[in-house]
Amino acid sequence: MSQNDTSSPGMNRFLSVSEVQKRIINDTKAVVGTEQIALRQALGRVLATDVIATFDTPPCDNSGMDGYAFSSKELSSDINEQATLTLKIAGQSFAGHPYNGEIAAGEAIRIMTGAQVPDGVDTVVMQEHTETPDNTPGEKTVTITNIPKPFANVRKAGDDLTTGQTFLSKGKKLSPTDLAFLATQGIAEVKVSRKLRVAFFSTGDELRSIGETLGEGDIYDSNRYSLYGLLKNLDVEMIDMGVIPDDRQAIEDAFKTAADLADAVITSGGVSVGEADFVKETLEKLGQINFWKISMKPGKPLAFGTLGNSLFFGLPGNPVAVIATFYQFVQPALKRMKGQDIVLPLVIKARTTELLKKRPGRTDFQRGILTQSDSGELTVKNAGTQASHVLTAMSRANCFIIIPAQSGSIEAGEMVNVQPFDGLLS
Ligand code: AMP
Ligand code: MG
Repeated sequence: MSQNDTSSPGMNRFLSVSEVQKRIINDTKAVVGTEQIALRQALGRVLATDVIATFDTPPCDNSGMDGYAFSSKELSSDINEQATLTLKIAGQSFAGHPYNGEIAAGEAIRIMTGAQVPDGVDTVVMQEHTETPDNTPGEKTVTITNIPKPFANVRKAGDDLTTGQTFLSKGKKLSPTDLAFLATQGIAEVKVSRKLRVAFFSTGDELRSIGETLGEGDIYDSNRYSLYGLLKNLDVEMIDMGVIPDDRQAIEDAFKTAADLADAVITSGGVSVGEADFVKETLEKLGQINFWKISMKPGKPLAFGTLGNSLFFGLPGNPVAVIATFYQFVQPALKRMKGQDIVLPLVIKARTTELLKKRPGRTDFQRGILTQSDSGELTVKNAGTQASHVLTAMSRANCFIIIPAQSGSIEAGEMVNVQPFDGLLS
């Protein structure tokens, strides 16, 4: 755990987003614990061990085409590309029904895609490059009208995987292709990191849960819903602890319960300056927490540290700030806790089609709409009012436009950094 910044002389210093990301990632370790699960259940889970091929795949040489297989020895040097070659058809090899006989000089066999290429032949000509003239009974021949190169159209055993090869590594999040890849090796179960348990709650006397009546000055708690969605996409076990009032004892109890139950605890609200001191006090009493001011907009304040055995994230209260800080800090840390190898969100370049207003100071995470033009160029525009309590633009947006701290407004036509949401969720 890094030094508690609240007691250091630099406590009023603003930290950059990347500095905070670095600190958080450094302080985050993969959770201990694995489980052995069936292949289908493993989709989206993170491998806890390397997976090694126990046999070659494909297991045998097989045909890449429907056609005829013959020996490259038939292709003597005096056969030029225009010449034809006529061979006797000795038999056939179909997928799942290999040819078991001998193949003599001057012979070919009929072969289908995926069918075993038997000993004695090594080259396949595609059907479209052959003719089968009306053969006399018992004397079937094939004439190759377009001579292939030696060894053409044969998929070699071990082309994809060779015995002993590590083909999926620990830390890989399993994709649909990976399920297929494991299936080619006949693997029915894999060892994955256990699911993370993440507890979260909202703090604030003004917050009501859905179903309750709003009193004067009250608002509905929406942060637990964005957090639910964001966590759902990370495939974690969630413990939703509801709304906790701004009350010393209630806060302390909630923090203790959450830390007992979960690998990570996420709260929203109560980390800005001017908040009732006991939130901070309680966290300092119960855990090892840093209170950071981050040079980003939205999302200036963030509390991060450990609470018992769990990692703690105290996010700001404003709904857009919750989502922005989750993407930048919580998601990379949770991925790391899951044992996943790729953790930081993807950033790409796009051309802004309009003026993006900004004052120099903090790094902006503006809500944007990223579009691809017919010519393939990526362009981006503002998704609406850029205020941290306004969900309208956040809902319309499909990306954050990241504008560096020192930058002022960006003119239309300039290139900007963009973080697409979909890329963030993988
Ligand atoms: P705080 O960080 O507690 O000072 O909250 C900052 C702003 O976010 C205030 O306007 C709060 O009312 C609002 N806010 C805090 N928590 C939530 C929540 N769970 N849902 C919606 N708004 C919230
Ligand atoms: Mg509050």
